[in-house]
Amino acid sequence: MSDGVEPIPVTLIPGDGIGPECVRAAVAIVEAAGAPIAWEDADAGAEVFRRGVASGVPPETMDSIARTRVALKGPLETPVGFGEKSANVTLRKLYETYANVRPVREMPGVTTPYSGRGVDLVMVRENVEDLYAGIEYMQTPGVAQALKLISVKGCEKISRFAFEYARSEGRTSVACATKANIMKFSEGTLKRVFEQVAPGYPEIESWHIIVDNAAHQLVKRPEQYEVIVTTNMNGDILSDLSSALIGGLGFAPSANIGNEVAIFEAVHGSAPKYAGKDVINPTAVILSAVMMLRYLGLFEEAAAIEHAVFVTLESGVLTGDVMGYDRGTPTTVYTDTIIGNLGKKTETWTIRDPKPLHLPQLSSDPDYVKVSSRAVVGLDVFVESPLSAEELGTSLTELATGTRLELKMISSRGTKVYPATGAITDTLDHWRCRFIIREDPGDLWDEDVHQLLARISRRHSWMHIEKLMEFDGELGFTRDQGEN
Ligand code: NAP
Repeated sequence: MSDGVEPIPVTLIPGDGIGPECVRAAVAIVEAAGAPIAWEDADAGAEVFRRGVASGVPPETMDSIARTRVALKGPLETPVGFGEKSANVTLRKLYETYANVRPVREMPGVTTPYSGRGVDLVMVRENVEDLYAGIEYMQTPGVAQALKLISVKGCEKISRFAFEYARSEGRTSVACATKANIMKFSEGTLKRVFEQVAPGYPEIESWHIIVDNAAHQLVKRPEQYEVIVTTNMNGDILSDLSSALIGGLGFAPSANIGNEVAIFEAVHGSAPKYAGKDVINPTAVILSAVMMLRYLGLFEEAAAIEHAVFVTLESGVLTGDVMGYDRGTPTTVYTDTIIGNLGKKTETWTIRDPKPLHLPQLSSDPDYVKVSSRAVVGLDVFVESPLSAEELGTSLTELATGTRLELKMISSRGTKVYPATGAITDTLDHWRCRFIIREDPGDLWDEDVHQLLARISRRHSWMHIEKLMEFDGELGFTRDQGEN
């Protein structure tokens, strides 16, 4: 062990609900294993929201993480309401921890319908982009919009990370799960970038899979996967699904890794109904601490704890989530048993021996993707109107007369409704009105846009516009169902 070594500072956030019990267990085990850690206590979550801190993360906690660069945290409750953000998402975003790593591995002694099949995969979830940007609007009183932001740079970082992670653990395949067939630009970017990055890792097999099939395959034949890389929302869902394959959220650890900061936590939440009852399973946080020790280079201590956890499970000492809450081993007894098993080695399970992880280093240029030509070829104007599609279309065509733009079509939630196609489409008061540049040479200028908007404002209420761009001659926008 590491006697006499300068302790490594780590920010410790107990969290809400069952968080403090789980974190207490993990700290006791890490200390008993002799890992040289100097914990810095910090808070975040429900109590901090109650104090009026809108992010749920107070400045002292932010200062601590900025100093230590590593945190172990319990789950944080997300207030259900409008306006407040998730403190978890805030923490991930504040420190650009772009990779959420969720290993899912069959546990000894934990019987599930999948036992014996060797489930041992890692979900690598992009952690800061996608719908989790949390940019949402009520565009009309009855229609909400959320922006799904996906960047080429974000996709390259997470793709490279997934391959590097696979390499560090000696894994031989990485699958990429997206909904690129429907969301060709957002989800499609991850697919495209993943396929560009993959040849740089020739020893690792790679393939793309549509995310709904990935979910199906995970239930049907999970042992086929080693590493799955995916977008934020997909990863959120697939990783909870995956943890159920090996006995549930009580066994699912995770790491949020960025190039500067790493935050380790269980996949699960604060499970408030079990808080303070000494019944929950602390394994997910304990294994998150194991991931943290490996990240800090404390491989020996990490392996010792992993062995002790497996020996404990093999001996049939199991918590209420596995045994039933009336029969399970109390959290504190389970923790003490693991501590008592430190130094013993599992005879049935192998412990991975990972190599240090190389984090991808990308250019810091804000204009990460450079193009040699660009053009604005039209304008989508989002209009709130109680008129019918036909009435609105006629009115907008008239208003655009004499401008450089003409109305091409109107859609309702992505389906073309004007000019009518014969489709039976329910419509709302929310319309996307697509204008394209008339047959004259030259780019569309902002003055042309202003002129059209001024005309539309005479009769209608618009709430959002989007320029239709071409980059290097490639369309930068999708067509609607029914549009050609
Ligand atoms: P949850 O807290 O994860 O609990 C869902 C269920 O999972 C529990 O009822 C329990 O199932 C099982 N479970 C979770 N952790 C367990 C453990 N350690 N031991 C045994 N069983 C465990 O999910 P939730 O109820 O949806 O969310 C509660 C709060 O946590 C919300 O405020 C949510 O926003 C927050 N949350 C935080 C994080 C985070 O901090 N990263 C993540 C997710 C959710 P059974 O009752 O079937 O045994």
